[in-house]
Amino acid sequence: MNQRIERLRQRFEGEVDAFITSHPANRRYLTGFTGSAGTVVVGRDRAFLLVDFRYVEQAKAQAQGVEIVHFDDLHRSLAQLLSEVKARRVAFEAAHVTVAGERKLREAVPDVAWEPAENWVEELRAVKEPREIEAIQAAVDLADRAFSYIVERLRGRTEREIALDLEFFMRREGASKLAFDTIVASGPNGALPHAVPTDRVVTEGDLVTLDFGAVVDGYCSDITRTVAVGKADGRQREIYQLVLEAQRTGVAAVRPGRTGREVDAEAREVIARAGHGEHFGHGLGHGVGLEVHERPPVLSKLGEEVLQEGMVTSVEPGVYIPGWGGVRIEDLVVVTGDGCRTLTRSPKDLIEV
Ligand code: ZN
Ligand code: ZN
Repeated sequence: MNQRIERLRQRFEGEVDAFITSHPANRRYLTGFTGSAGTVVVGRDRAFLLVDFRYVEQAKAQAQGVEIVHFDDLHRSLAQLLSEVKARRVAFEAAHVTVAGERKLREAVPDVAWEPAENWVEELRAVKEPREIEAIQAAVDLADRAFSYIVERLRGRTEREIALDLEFFMRREGASKLAFDTIVASGPNGALPHAVPTDRVVTEGDLVTLDFGAVVDGYCSDITRTVAVGKADGRQREIYQLVLEAQRTGVAAVRPGRTGREVDAEAREVIARAGHGEHFGHGLGHGVGLEVHERPPVLSKLGEEVLQEGMVTSVEPGVYIPGWGGVRIEDLVVVTGDGCRTLTRSPKDLIEV
């Protein structure tokens, strides 16, 4: 029996007769199938994974608790299956289906009522099982190793070289891919929270922000550290300590029963009190799992979901000052029964290299 599919059924019971998804992370979560195309149909008693010719063998080997259907025409197969399981109301994922895709569904299967659903599988995914936390920890451990490797190799190299070296290290050490595009932002470039690595050479007096992650066993890590090249000056030290205090405050605020907004507010207050509120323009954190940005939870002013044991979130305040640079520090934490446990182990005190 597939427990995840059972939980999804409990979620939609009484609302619809079936649920479909083609979203890669949701498809993988529900079935275990890691291929890059396929559609999952979950009815009240039966569940299916529809794949084309390329994926039949892989689906048979990986997928659990679903019947594998090899289709030539996806929409014709969908219509057939939905009529076979007598589904009259069918949910599709509003966040992952395009307007054209929705029109196609309604045209191809006109005799069912198509109902948009949001976050049904994402809410299941938000609370991680122990083996998922182990996979995330493995991805975090790899990122930690990559940080200690790269931190000694910053001086005199361009941001692009550093990013490439980091990425190569992670791939060589077991990452199946990168969790997202690596950020290496030095000197004034650090003022851009999502800076793209450039040909700027890292030199004495820079702060360098490194934000990167690996995918291991399908699960992502996400870490940010900011280090000083040479001896940090007074202002660099002051901003660093401020962000570190906000980061520690944020981690200490994570516990079950609180909303993302409350946690965000506590960390944000530290930065606002120091007069840098306007220099911290993004949310405090985001869920991490099969995708590097998952929701829930959302640690931001918009974070209404309540934190629950087993959720994994980043905690990543930053201060960005145009023309000067920036500091961001990011850890991943897992919510426990009475607080949280930090998965990231890289040191957080200011490193001068
Ligand atoms: Zn990050
Ligand atoms: Zn992040």
